[in-house]
Amino acid sequence: MRIILFILGGKRVPFVNTMRTILHKGSFRVKSARLRKRHLTESGFAVNIPTVFHQKGNQLAKGVYIATFGCQMNKYDSEKMMEILAPDYLPVSEPEEADLILVNSCSVREKAEQKLYTAIGRYMPLKKQRPGLIIGAAGCVAQQIKEKVFERFPQLDICIGTDAIQSIRSMVEEVEKKRIRVQDTAFRSGGYHIDETEAPFPALVEGFIPTTFVAIQKGCDHFCSYCIVPFTRGREKSRPVEEITAECRRMVESGVREITLLGQNVNSYGNDLPGVDFADLLHAVNEIDGLLRIRFVTSHAASLNERQMSAMAGLPKVCEYLHLPIQSGSDRILHLMNRGYTSSEYMGKLSRLREYLPNVSLSGDMIVGFPQETEEDFQRTLEVMREIRYETLFAFAYSPRPLTKASKLIDDVPREVKLERLGRLLELQKEITREANRAYTGKTVEVLVDGPARRDNEMQGRTRSNKIVNFPGSPDMVGRLIEVRIVAAYQNSLKGRLLSEED
Ligand code: SF4
Repeated sequence: MRIILFILGGKRVPFVNTMRTILHKGSFRVKSARLRKRHLTESGFAVNIPTVFHQKGNQLAKGVYIATFGCQMNKYDSEKMMEILAPDYLPVSEPEEADLILVNSCSVREKAEQKLYTAIGRYMPLKKQRPGLIIGAAGCVAQQIKEKVFERFPQLDICIGTDAIQSIRSMVEEVEKKRIRVQDTAFRSGGYHIDETEAPFPALVEGFIPTTFVAIQKGCDHFCSYCIVPFTRGREKSRPVEEITAECRRMVESGVREITLLGQNVNSYGNDLPGVDFADLLHAVNEIDGLLRIRFVTSHAASLNERQMSAMAGLPKVCEYLHLPIQSGSDRILHLMNRGYTSSEYMGKLSRLREYLPNVSLSGDMIVGFPQETEEDFQRTLEVMREIRYETLFAFAYSPRPLTKASKLIDDVPREVKLERLGRLLELQKEITREANRAYTGKTVEVLVDGPARRDNEMQGRTRSNKIVNFPGSPDMVGRLIEVRIVAAYQNSLKGRLLSEED
């Protein structure tokens, strides 16, 4: 058994005390360990608990293993479930060591859904070896297929939907007591709230890093014709500003220095709350002492407005980086996608944004091979890519998702054509990214240091524009802003040299 506990100061006192109690009762030997990537903090606390305590007769904690597939929102939900389940259940690194296994899968892409089925199928035989093992399906796929998941896996114990995350503890307790199958896939009325817990997130799950996500909103009212999110996450719901800022403060007290505000459609934030919008939220988060940087994802061009652009330009902690997907360059396809803008409207918003923030760095999403997409439509997509010049692009070949309007259209672009267009798109993107990266050479950039790079004696961090920079440095730099001169540019990263080391 191996338990690593790094206590380098910080304010995680309740959890530190809990851990000390557990370690003391279980007579575990605590030894010092070398700082490792993702378990490294200047002033925080990190813990890695790779085995279950009860194997040594300690009944204080059981092991939970959560396999997460899909988007950042799913990862965030997994972290929240871990947080709610602690300290009765603590994370283990192998499913074989767990008393509770949850498979949390997104269904935006077909692959993630398949991964859920494959993963549950792989874990089910563990029930024979470990009587009492509880296995559950969570996330968008569970929300989408509901009780059908029990038809596919009769021995599954839990089916928990996206709006029921807060109920995970009571659901697990019910299974433990009654040994029955439980399901909660109802959408709640009312707002979006996440109860505070005492668990030391995000360290409990994967070790300290100085950047983290905080959910501000979930669900979506846009109903893009290809997207399953409004069906699996429900309609838009915003968390109250006070709840978000309280969570951000808690993160900052734990050593976090950069927060990415997370939601399916962040710039619709507040549509369901009285008297507050996304720009107001940016102002409120910008006030938090000790926080160095703010990012947010994902934005929708139709919801991007002057107040948000002005806040981005005026608030010093908000980074000059925006994920603003266009999805296609063809107005005909954008209409079929129900995106709510034309390509010229998108470009109009973008040029306005560039008036506020001339150096804004952009990333985006593109779908190729949407039903009825012709070569001409695709050429238009290539044209807008040259105009927008995303520095990073997430591109996909269209595949129909159940429940969506587009799934009723004939999927008439042959798979080989989709893949061929995807290849051409990615080739163009490579060129654009390479050029964008080359433009950094010789410049001085501010890097927030994340942790060690792959190479020895190098550290890694990100610029305000979200570029990865590797440079010679030391672990005491983690969580700090460092000035770096860029000396080389590669396809996916930049190489820098510390300004202080230059002649
Ligand atoms: S904006 Fe469109 S693509 Fe994005 S989550 Fe909403 S429905 Fe899906």
